[in-house]
Amino acid sequence: MDETPDERKRSGRSKSIGPCIVSCIFVFLTHLVLSLVPRFFSASAFLAQLALSALLLLFFLGFGGWCRRTLLKRRASAPAFVFFNILFIWGFYISVISQAVSLLNDAVFSCEVVFLLIGLYSIITSDPGFVTNGFASSDQVAEGSVSEVHIHEKELEVLASGLSDDSTEGSGLVTRVRYCRICKAYIKGLDHHCPAFGNCIGQKNHPLFLVLLFGLIITEASYLVCTSLFVAKSGLLRRPSLEPTLSENLTVSTIMFTILQLVWQVLFVIWHIYCVCFNIRTDEWINWKKHPEFQLLVQPQPGKNFTSIKFRNPYDKGIRQNVKEFLALRA
Ligand SMILES: [Zn+2]
Repeated sequence: MDETPDERKRSGRSKSIGPCIVSCIFVFLTHLVLSLVPRFFSASAFLAQLALSALLLLFFLGFGGWCRRTLLKRRASAPAFVFFNILFIWGFYISVISQAVSLLNDAVFSCEVVFLLIGLYSIITSDPGFVTNGFASSDQVAEGSVSEVHIHEKELEVLASGLSDDSTEGSGLVTRVRYCRICKAYIKGLDHHCPAFGNCIGQKNHPLFLVLLFGLIITEASYLVCTSLFVAKSGLLRRPSLEPTLSENLTVSTIMFTILQLVWQVLFVIWHIYCVCFNIRTDEWINWKKHPEFQLLVQPQPGKNFTSIKFRNPYDKGIRQNVKEFLALRA
């Protein structure tokens, strides 16, 4: 019997206890490994430690992923990894950092974390804009054996049929329908499939996704403010001890972890804002050669016998109109 995307998601969630436990262990191991940097390289410059942490994090995530898949044959859950990371940082903050922080800072940071966890749950369980008119559950799609041409034809077909009964009909707003190979479903206004949140980001949850990214950035910045207050009070960086304790190492390593997170998330948000302003989804921006509407055939120049393809965005209607449409397309 065919399952709708919602049913597939629900049955997937019920089988996710094992991957959640793997993710939880993986979070602890990640922070333990990162704490080795200040433990053994405390004499090095902070930037050198930061670069080393970034390399270690990439290596550990890659190597850990390979070990899980090939040796342990266990899957981890990326959303659970994000969730437990937030809990780990919060737990460390409560047990160590909060001692040096004022009650107001303490309340602000804790509220931010609670909102972040609510936001995380909301985005994981949100409907990105599943098209539920029968195409999404066809046998061919469920088996994942669709070709690029077939997908594009279906996207246009779903778009045409979806618009006839869609609330946006007549408003002049065009909803792009794209196929997600991971969810095996057609999504209205698909931006990308987000592995970290285990869900597609589409027309209905794209604004929530951006709000959540801003929330992450603000919370991480707050954590850095709180830890710098702690470091200033404890004089941790002024007098690095010869035998630093685990909590001292974790203070430094969580600062570096948070800075690394912050850097890539700020870059990610800037890229998303750019895409919203120019009315192009991030997946379309990367894979524009797969979508014919973004291709402009340039006739061969005299003396040359090949036709080149240039990028053009048929959806770009100017920044103001693009942002207006982006906010209006939530419904
Ligand atoms: Zn997806």
